[in-house]
Amino acid sequence: RTGWIEIVCGSMFSGKTEELIRRLNRAKIAKQKVAIFKPNVDTRYHDEDIVSHNALSIPSVPILESRDILALTGDCDVVGIDEAQFFDGGIVEVCNILANKGKRVIVAGLDMDFKGNPFGPMPGLMAVAEYITKVHAVCVVCGDVAHYSYRKAASQDEVLLGETDSYEARCRKCYHL
Ligand code: ADP
Ligand code: MG
Repeated sequence: RTGWIEIVCGSMFSGKTEELIRRLNRAKIAKQKVAIFKPNVDTRYHDEDIVSHNALSIPSVPILESRDILALTGDCDVVGIDEAQFFDGGIVEVCNILANKGKRVIVAGLDMDFKGNPFGPMPGLMAVAEYITKVHAVCVVCGDVAHYSYRKAASQDEVLLGETDSYEARCRKCYHL
């Protein structure tokens, strides 16, 4: 059987992790062997688990370099990756290798950083993926569909953790207020 790559992307609070966990749990119900990874940088909630903002969680393996995923996915059917925007550029080839081996690869990540620019390896991943799902948050200012992660804090570094106090979901109009 052939493999493929599917992407779940969107702003912060858009339900990427929720949707990733939903897809992985359904794969487990189908008795498929699942392996789940996240970049080591993401230690906001728990060292190992992937946790969504509405408190769903699933065990995962924190990874320093994208290459390390290959050795840990030998016999699994489905590979889940969260916060993919924080991985090195090698993640694109890693996902291709896994899909070429017949695995279903489900990748969740921020499509844009808080400046509205494409985030890390996400554009490359979206280019090679068979399927892309954009999920959306609710704008905290007006309630419309939110598409941007608005940074409330002053720091301009691309990576700033502790997101609930530092970022909020905003629609196109309110992002530019
Ligand atoms: P992501 O991984 O995209 O950051 P999560 O899957 O962790 O998102 O969290 C999604 C959950 O966040 C929603 O089900 C909802 O309970 C909660 N939430 C908090 N703020 C918002 C918001 N502004 N818009 C939508 N959902 C929100
Ligand atoms: Mg998430």
